[in-house]
Amino acid sequence: MTTSTTDRCSLPSLYASAREYLQELAESGVDGIPEDQGQVLQGPGARGQGPEKSGMASKGTKGSVATTWTPDPGPRPLDPASQSLEAVRHELGDCQRCALAATRTNLVFGSGNPQADLLFVGEAPGADEDRQGVPFVGEAGQILTRIITAMGLSRQEVYICNVLKCRPPGNRNPHKDEIERCSPFLLGQVQAIRPKAIVALGTFAAQTLLGSKEPISRMRGKFHDYHGIPLMPTFHPSFLLRNKADKQRYWEVWEDMVQVLQKLGLPVPEKQGPGAKGQGPEKQGQG
Ligand code: SF4
Repeated sequence: MTTSTTDRCSLPSLYASAREYLQELAESGVDGIPEDQGQVLQGPGARGQGPEKSGMASKGTKGSVATTWTPDPGPRPLDPASQSLEAVRHELGDCQRCALAATRTNLVFGSGNPQADLLFVGEAPGADEDRQGVPFVGEAGQILTRIITAMGLSRQEVYICNVLKCRPPGNRNPHKDEIERCSPFLLGQVQAIRPKAIVALGTFAAQTLLGSKEPISRMRGKFHDYHGIPLMPTFHPSFLLRNKADKQRYWEVWEDMVQVLQKLGLPVPEKQGPGAKGQGPEKQGQG
């Protein structure tokens, strides 16, 4: 088969585009691209395929909606003026508003200081978080703790939660309907805590909070507005974990955190990049 001059000339740009797209998928926590035949092409951030990963093959593209579940009417709109964090938790109750209720072990609401100036928002609980009912306690959570410590803060001083309060099976990407059902409670948490700054960890958290389709690599590095609160998107700790040899990513996260500290009027510790210490083990985790 012959290749035209035009085709040959476009190959480098096609390769560059494909590489950029795969990088964006990896930053989003996507492990592979479902093919029509149900096979999975591996992206650069591919994780080991455990038994639960078999669900990837039948999963749709990002933002696809589960077709085997009929939604209930969903949560009532929250009244920000009357909601404390406890009231938001009470409102959530033993939530059955989306299909994730059937597979969770524990609902993971959030942890930290209810009056925190700084709020970290991740994507969804992973296996460790689902077991313990606490956000960011797995391997990725250790990276987040290291980032917070490097900022001169503690987990008790900040507040940590996720967009989704229940673990998607196999750490698959959240479905659109799940985000729609759960995100009003995240908004309720934000309105109750009223932080001075928010850090959105990873593409899903940033896109959900900002209503954006942009990949995290384009959103990070600058503040965005979330209901009047400055929001800094940055890479998810699990992305750092999967790319622990790439120190540049750690320093980019640190640069983002320096901006957050400056926004909060807090001192910036010197040379305290979150990747300064030895990197975490191989096991993957979410928030
Ligand atoms: S993910 Fe959110 S909306 Fe779905 S069951 Fe859990 S708490 Fe309810």
